[in-house]
Amino acid sequence: MLLSPTLDPMGQAIWDYASTGHAGTLRVLSSTFDDDEIPVPTLFRTELQMPALERMALNLCRGHVLDVGAGAGCHSLALQDRGLEVCSIDISPLSTRARTLRGVRDARCTDFFGQELDGMRFDTIVLLMNGLGIAGTLNRLPSLLNRCKALLVPDGRVLADSSDLRYVFEDEDGNFDWDAADGYYGEVDYQMQYKNVKGEPFDWLYTDPMLLASISKQCGLNCEIVEEGENYDFLARLF
Ligand code: SAH
Repeated sequence: MLLSPTLDPMGQAIWDYASTGHAGTLRVLSSTFDDDEIPVPTLFRTELQMPALERMALNLCRGHVLDVGAGAGCHSLALQDRGLEVCSIDISPLSTRARTLRGVRDARCTDFFGQELDGMRFDTIVLLMNGLGIAGTLNRLPSLLNRCKALLVPDGRVLADSSDLRYVFEDEDGNFDWDAADGYYGEVDYQMQYKNVKGEPFDWLYTDPMLLASISKQCGLNCEIVEEGENYDFLARLF
């Protein structure tokens, strides 16, 4: 499903910043976390400004790359600069317009789960900035992984990052305060607001490395944790 511009606060913020060099505050509401904001310029980060895990992911890209949930296109542009061919997709028409304006050559407004990509094969699929989150909930993670498998050449790879949210529910003594009856602790909901544009609430998944490895295995993918970051975040290579 594609986003309507009237319900796409992040796309509006990205378009404003890409077209004028300024943007207002992009607010992020969630029932798990305190109200927060995403500094819009961080969506326009250069390779030098990227966290180490993302730079490592770029280093591991080969051949024809599919950038899923490309946003303002920071990874697509960095990969193009390295001479790689990139298909850069997002469900936001506004951010897609911004990626085209910024020089992303193959920027498409496409849903990763939709039919437009059927039949295409990529050497690398990147899902960055907690990119596995687009699964939404844990029970949809296998569909995401199977979709990746279907779009990869036989020796292709997925590079994806996520975070283990366990620390959010741990007290000072390290006791884990989460009722398993409430589902998996990495399932959160978000809603964004930019100026007078408020998006629909959406589910976002954070997965811990062990769980990702086990679900990957069930889907017939090997999972290698390439690197762990300083904030319980990690980069995985699935192949
Ligand atoms: N990767 C970018 C942006 C991350 S925000 C960065 O690192 O800066 C996540 C993006 O995923 C949003 O732009 C959102 O519109 C997009 N998205 C969410 N679900 C998607 C789907 N099913 N297919 C393609 N893009 C999706």
